[in-house]
Amino acid sequence: SKAKLFDEKKDIRATFKDVAGLEGAKEEVQEIVEFLKNPERYTSLGGKIPKGALLVGPPGTGKTLLAKAVAGEAKVPFFSLSGSDFVEMFVGVGASRVRDLFKQAKEKSPAIIFIDEIDAIGRARGKNNFTGSNDERENTLNQLLTEMDGFGTNTNVIVLAATNRADILDKALMRAGRFDRQIYVDLPDLNERREIFEVHLRPIKTKEALDLDFLAKQTPGFSGADIANVCNEAALIAARKGKKAVDKQDFLDAVDRIIGGLEKKNKIIT
Ligand code: ATP
Repeated sequence: SKAKLFDEKKDIRATFKDVAGLEGAKEEVQEIVEFLKNPERYTSLGGKIPKGALLVGPPGTGKTLLAKAVAGEAKVPFFSLSGSDFVEMFVGVGASRVRDLFKQAKEKSPAIIFIDEIDAIGRARGKNNFTGSNDERENTLNQLLTEMDGFGTNTNVIVLAATNRADILDKALMRAGRFDRQIYVDLPDLNERREIFEVHLRPIKTKEALDLDFLAKQTPGFSGADIANVCNEAALIAARKGKKAVDKQDFLDAVDRIIGGLEKKNKIIT
């Protein structure tokens, strides 16, 4: 089976409204939105638009969502690929996919390229704790560096990459003119969890107005993805019982179920 390495989603609907919390990160990427919307304004005085930024944080905290929202807010195409797709590739394929991806994005610029799990490609060179072909990974990484260096200052393609392991990345990736900005995307605090519930309750038919504070308090250590799961699971639990609307108990049952799943994954919940 062929891995889907990138897709341009013409109708990106994610906007900052879909991203709850993460005020600091949103503020930082707002600047990227401005660059993409109006590149000439920034380059007219001789300034260089940044080429890349690294979104750093634990799984499920909204890094992909934020990258899509940048494209959605700027109304530019979004090209994406995941580092883990390269793991089992034959020699030469990874590099040529990277080359293709950049070629397409440049043709449609201004545009966003998003590389999820960049650590799968961008692990420091020479550290061979990797099951696939290490040469292939290095070729892919080298191609990525070449592409980023090869952009002219007016290319108007910005590369966002996500990782939860910035510490293992090859330092060459972070050099000036590459991913020289790091944006932190942390687990949500109590207030942010409340806001995430608010977003994910939008499509859910609830019996009464739910106490969002209460739900936020029941979910310490949960990521945005976990909370999205809770809301979905609660709706399924209620439906299975033949209820006409989702109630508080369904949410509590869903929280228990998600905690059970998280414990299996050895996450620590306090
Ligand atoms: P990973 O590192 O596992 O790829 P990620 O940080 O890229 O995770 P996303 O894929 O963006 O996380 O998040 C998964 C889903 O969780 C989102 O599509 C969204 O439904 C929900 N979610 C996560 N964070 C938020 C948030 N801050 N606000 C609203 N929804 C969120």
